[in-house]
This record gives sequence, C-alpha cells and structure tokens, in this order.
Amino acid sequence: MVAPGPGGDVHELSIALSLIDEAAGAARSEGYVRVMRVHARIGVLSGVVHEALQFSFQMASPGTACEDAVLEIEEVPIQVRCPVCQQVVQLPNAYRFVCPTCGTPTPEVVAGRELELVSIEVDDDEAASA
Ligand SMILES: [Zn+2]
Repeated sequence: MVAPGPGGDVHELSIALSLIDEAAGAARSEGYVRVMRVHARIGVLSGVVHEALQFSFQMASPGTACEDAVLEIEEVPIQVRCPVCQQVVQLPNAYRFVCPTCGTPTPEVVAGRELELVSIEVDDDEAASA
C-alpha cells in the first residue's frame, strides 16, 4: 500500500496516519469534506524526522479528506525544569540534559515530547451538504 519513505519508518507513517485520521475526523464533524492545511506540533524529543513525516503524510493522504493538504510542522523545543534555578529552561540540544545556567542535571522534561494536531484549515467551498 504505502512505500517506506526516505529514512522513514513505521514511526513517522503511523504518526502521519493518525494526524490524517484526526484531521479528517475533525473536518467531518464540522461538515467539511476537504482539509487544506494541517498544523501539527512535534517535539524535538519525539524522534520524528520531519522530512519522513512529510513524506509519509503525502503518501498516506490520497483518498482521504487530507488529500493535497499541506502539513505544517511546528517544532517544539526541549524545555526542562531546573531543580536549582526553579525555572523552566530551554535546552539547545537533546544530548545534554543539564541546566544551561547552572549546570545541574535536569531530568524533568516539561516540553519537547509533543506529537499533536493543533488545528486544521478546511475548504469552505466544499462543505458537505447534510
Ligand atoms: Zn539551573
């Protein structure tokens, strides 16, 4: 059915499928048949390769309400809570979980694992006639 993408794996494909499913369901519940744009938030720590997700989305969307829809990915940076500074700080990368201010290890991740549909834009001209 769906060929594996470049560097893509089941991970991105299953995420693409659930985004399509969720977006199509949301459109349908509002009486729309076609999704034009899908906004998703993807955390850096989710391990999602954006290109692979885009590829999977393009591969999996034909025949669904999301056919020809644009997938917009908002990358969510890693944020951790520093137990010393008592502050939520943003990490520059996923390799060292230490507070950039004081160097304390920061195991408490508060953002960066997101994998969620934020919103969709639908085609107003193609509203399904109920
Ligand atoms: Zn700190």
